[in-house]
Amino acid sequence: MDKRLIGEILQRAADGGRIDPDEALLLYTEAPFHALGEAADAVRRRRFPDGIVTYLIDRNINYTNVCVTACRFCAFYRPPRHAEGWSHSLDEILRRCGEAVDLGATQVMLQGGHHPDYGVEYYESLFSAVRRTYPSLTIHSLGPSEVLHMAKVSDVGIEEAIRRIRAAGLDSIAGAGAEMLPERPRRAIAPLKESGQRWLDVMEIAHRLGVESTATMMMGTGETNAERIEHLRLIRDLQDRTGGFRAFIPWTYQPEHNHLKGRTQCTSLEYLRLVALARLFFDNVAHLQASWLTTGKDVGQLSLHLGVDDLGSIMLEENVISAAGARHRSGLGELVAMIRSADRIPAQRDTQYRHLKVHQFAQDDCCDERVVSHISSTTAMRGSAVTQGSAAVRGGRATAPAGEVPAKTAQMGEVR
Ligand code: SF4
Repeated sequence: MDKRLIGEILQRAADGGRIDPDEALLLYTEAPFHALGEAADAVRRRRFPDGIVTYLIDRNINYTNVCVTACRFCAFYRPPRHAEGWSHSLDEILRRCGEAVDLGATQVMLQGGHHPDYGVEYYESLFSAVRRTYPSLTIHSLGPSEVLHMAKVSDVGIEEAIRRIRAAGLDSIAGAGAEMLPERPRRAIAPLKESGQRWLDVMEIAHRLGVESTATMMMGTGETNAERIEHLRLIRDLQDRTGGFRAFIPWTYQPEHNHLKGRTQCTSLEYLRLVALARLFFDNVAHLQASWLTTGKDVGQLSLHLGVDDLGSIMLEENVISAAGARHRSGLGELVAMIRSADRIPAQRDTQYRHLKVHQFAQDDCCDERVVSHISSTTAMRGSAVTQGSAAVRGGRATAPAGEVPAKTAQMGEVR
């Protein structure tokens, strides 16, 4: 280890200079943990001198778990005609949106499987209904995978698909489905999914059309350290061209109830090092979000000392990652306390990271006790409000009736 070289690179990055991928790999694998964290925190302090750490109140609503893409890491999806496949009716989706609004949510994340019948028309119908009924809700939804899928189903180009769903109400695109962008690890975990390059292509088109997004990364499915850095490089290069990524959000693979299984191969330390490295590497992305849902609240709080300025959503509902074993839960008061006890100032934000409520002093921390994560779960979703095996929103064609359940796939679900 060349301590002098590492020190020079850390100093340059802390001062806001750019580091190249080789330097990033060196820092990620060799830099002393505390020095790495200190440099990342210096960047965070310069970017956010007010000491504010933001959070969001939103609800992730899944409209269907039916999916033809069968990602190996996914514990949420069911293949078409599976007895456990479901699609929510539009009424049920709107009911869930209304419940979220009542609890103070400002954003809804509508996501689902690649249903074989859901083309652009389905999403136009869905988004326009949500926009019409709850105009205050920001629709930060889908991901490049869904955009590609709907364009294919409707036989239109990506640009047309994005223009149409934006006109129907979509505000911004979630960074979902990035998983690992480099080809080798992506093929290993999601052989039927679009390539990493296609994921980037969709984001580039969206950004050029004025639809901004976030970017994510799923760690721990067997990728190498070099592939993790390559994932960051691909996102940074696109950001240099478009400036459309608002935030970077790394999270850790959850290994239950999917075909990939295995232990999570990303330790807390690896995650925290990546968080710090990301803050140093992304000199062109404003925000860095930690995933308390997948890493736990302790690690989430620690990340606040390693460059993170946002703890993401309270997630009134989350089914996808939870289906794969993420069991961490939180209440709004607890999330705010995590930020406060890390000696930061909590602030509720909107999707564009504008502050809605700054808890300047501890006496401002009092929160609505009804606002807790996971007010519903995957299991609860299999109730009467679910339309088994049918396309329930106008624009989706009828799905084939439920058929035999292959024993192997009966354990499956989705992760995004
Ligand atoms: S991650 Fe998304 S695309 Fe992949 S199987 Fe799950 S629902 Fe389908």
